[in-house]
Amino acid sequence: MDFLRPASWEEALAAKAGHPTAVPIAGGTDVMVEINFDHRRPEYLLDLNRVRDLYEWEVGEESVRLGASVPYTKIMDHLRAELPGLALASHTVASPQIRNRGGVGGNLGTASPAGDAHPALLAAGAEVEVESVRGSRLIPIDEFYTGVKRNALAADELIRAVHVRKADGPQQYSKVGTRNAMVIAVCAFGLALHPSSRTVRTGIGSAAPTPVRAKTAEEFLNAALEEGGFWDNGRVITPSVAQQFADLCAAACNPIDDVRGTASYRRHAVGIMARRTLTWTWESYRGTEGRTQRKGGVA
Ligand SMILES: Cc1cc2nc3c(=O)[nH]c(=O)nc-3n(C[C@H](O)[C@H](O)[C@H](O)COP(=O)(O)OP(=O)(O)OC[C@H]3O[C@@H](n4cnc5c(N)ncnc54)[C@H](O)[C@@H]3O)c2cc1C
Repeated sequence: MDFLRPASWEEALAAKAGHPTAVPIAGGTDVMVEINFDHRRPEYLLDLNRVRDLYEWEVGEESVRLGASVPYTKIMDHLRAELPGLALASHTVASPQIRNRGGVGGNLGTASPAGDAHPALLAAGAEVEVESVRGSRLIPIDEFYTGVKRNALAADELIRAVHVRKADGPQQYSKVGTRNAMVIAVCAFGLALHPSSRTVRTGIGSAAPTPVRAKTAEEFLNAALEEGGFWDNGRVITPSVAQQFADLCAAACNPIDDVRGTASYRRHAVGIMARRTLTWTWESYRGTEGRTQRKGGVA
């Protein structure tokens, strides 16, 4: 196995163009497991650890541009206000050691349906910045996941950054596992309220071949909130609306039975998480944070 060690982003792109089968390695917390278990024996490893730009982030007006290799601990420590859903999801990843090494770029590269960043990215709204020597493009997060552990990257492309919309309202992330730490999700759910556009977005993990949004559930809830004037009057969401939202989220799943859980358990748990995260975020919106947003909206 040859080891390619570019010192800059340009060198990394040139190396990937020259060796399209090269496997990029960032934190290595997925790649090294695969190599150790002999599940993968790449001809070339493309080490991205010397490309320092990948460890940087920028907070812009509307979004955060998060370098592909920014580790989860940095997101938790520095971006909790801007990206609360992703920070909560980061908390649930593995252990401090893994969170110090692994990052969102690697989670996207692996594109496992169980990856914890995905539901949070889907709910917040994100675009993946990918580049090759041919140029760069932004892939909407909904179009990034193309199959089980497959993504929209071309063979010569690398992930440079992820542009995640800054939170304009409360966000939540919930995960079911057999214990509280060091656990792959049985299923997971992300929810973000977007008061500025009066919309709700969701993300479901580990309950379909790819991470998915529950779009019918979102449309139902958006219409119900609009009709009832909820964004302005801040009333408690009626239990029947919350339950129908939960049922539609469960219906958006297309899970399998596996060692971690059955399909029917996953559907059930997604419904519960959808109802709970809706209650938590809506309660938060109705509180101080929400009142400020509503006043801003009315003025
Ligand atoms: C003990 C343990 C526990 C874990 N627990 C969790 C968990 O709870 N939740 C969870 O989501 N994950 C978990 N993981 C998986 C892993 O930590 C995450 O997926 C992490 O985000 C991977 O990031 P990384 O930088 O280490 O990726 P790497 O292992 O370096 O790479 C992962 C994949 O992405 C590709 N890649 C990396 N960077 C780029 C780039 N810039 N452009 C293109 N492709 C790229 C690689 O080629 C590879 O295919 C766990 C892993 C271990 C070992």
